[in-house]
Amino acid sequence: MNWLLSQEHKMVRASVRKFAEQELGPIAEEIDEQERFPLEVYQKAGKLGLIGSIIPQAYGGGGADLLTNGIIKEEFCRISAGFGMSVNICTTNFCYFISKYGTEEQKRRFIPPVISGEALGSWCLTEPEAGSDALSIRTYYVRRGDRFVLNGSKTFITNAPIARFFIVVAREKGSKGAKGATLFILERGMKGLSTGPPMRKLGMRCSPTGEVLIEDVQVDPSHILGEDGEGFPTMFETLDLERILGANTSIGIAQACLDASVRYAKERRQFGRPIAEFQLVRNMLAEMATRLEMSRCFTYCLFPRVEQGQKITKEASMAKYYASIMATRAALDAIQIFGGYGYMREFPVQRYLRDAKLVEIGGGTSEIQKMIIAKELLR
Ligand SMILES: Cc1cc2nc3c(=O)[nH]c(=O)nc-3n(C[C@H](O)[C@H](O)[C@H](O)COP(=O)(O)OP(=O)(O)OC[C@H]3O[C@@H](n4cnc5c(N)ncnc54)[C@H](O)[C@@H]3O)c2cc1C
Repeated sequence: MNWLLSQEHKMVRASVRKFAEQELGPIAEEIDEQERFPLEVYQKAGKLGLIGSIIPQAYGGGGADLLTNGIIKEEFCRISAGFGMSVNICTTNFCYFISKYGTEEQKRRFIPPVISGEALGSWCLTEPEAGSDALSIRTYYVRRGDRFVLNGSKTFITNAPIARFFIVVAREKGSKGAKGATLFILERGMKGLSTGPPMRKLGMRCSPTGEVLIEDVQVDPSHILGEDGEGFPTMFETLDLERILGANTSIGIAQACLDASVRYAKERRQFGRPIAEFQLVRNMLAEMATRLEMSRCFTYCLFPRVEQGQKITKEASMAKYYASIMATRAALDAIQIFGGYGYMREFPVQRYLRDAKLVEIGGGTSEIQKMIIAKELLR
């Protein structure tokens, strides 16, 4: 795998690993238990340039390639997947997409507070009645003079309870299908915009998730991201990258499972020897490591292709689908290797399982990924 990485990539991995182990490691269980997002670590990550690595330097970012962001996400997720997921929404779904589709004014206004760690962003597509069927969203806007008035609600939105900014997908009242949607950048404090309390979740518990309620929110055209009416094509373009980065979450969690399992198998003794000497345990380790490296290799190869503008919808779905199942399996096997201790809350492997499962659902379920892969094959 190492041959794919430049010297810079290796240095980024080493320094983010150290940061995550030092800053998140000691609190990972506590923030999961308390369902608390560690703002203090987010702010430190901002100061070190870890939130804005892929943002152009002109807007305060690091100007790095997309693989760098994948490695950062993976290393955060290796220690705390909830933290990695929340940060990545800020980095990719909010800042990177604004750097790509936003106006000069939007880039200067919305990106710096987020990449510096001062504020969080969010991406608001899912609604109570529109999940997998994203085109069926009901949040709508009407034009009133030179302003837009939005109404609707979003649910399961990562960072919503604490975010300052919200990219909201809404459709023009009366429009249907893939036409007529627009992306709006909303800001906390706008009249009619509110958020619900944090939802109680199985995993990813330090990442706050919640509802966004939009009631007669008035915005002027300076809040439109990309072309008015072109929201769905823009959104679908962004989904490919989001899915590849979903695979990075799984890769980070699976690496945590493997590291913990190898360590434990060498330490734990039964029948007078370390359990690592038993073939059935070795089999689990070998399978876990093989599937992990396959996922990593395939996923990393996709980033340069996104940068070259290649259409990789099928491959992005394959990466997310395979890696998410791979990580859930790795977590189940890690629990098995830990035996009864694996089932106890003071050991982290049960958290890895709860976190891993989310990637099979969020950002498009495994069923939806398989539908996309088959559709692309049969096109
Ligand atoms: C912790 C968390 C964080 C999230 N963060 C965000 C966020 O930041 N922003 C955001 O916009 N959304 C977010 N989501 C929403 C997420 O993307 C959706 O939950 C996901 O797309 C699935 O939608 P749904 O939950 O409505 O499930 P549904 O669409 O109701 O699906 C239910 C089941 O039916 C299956 N199904 C549906 N349609 C088909 C079909 N045609 N064929 C076969 N099977 C089908 C699904 O695969 C699934 O098994 C988040 C979700 C969670 C749990």
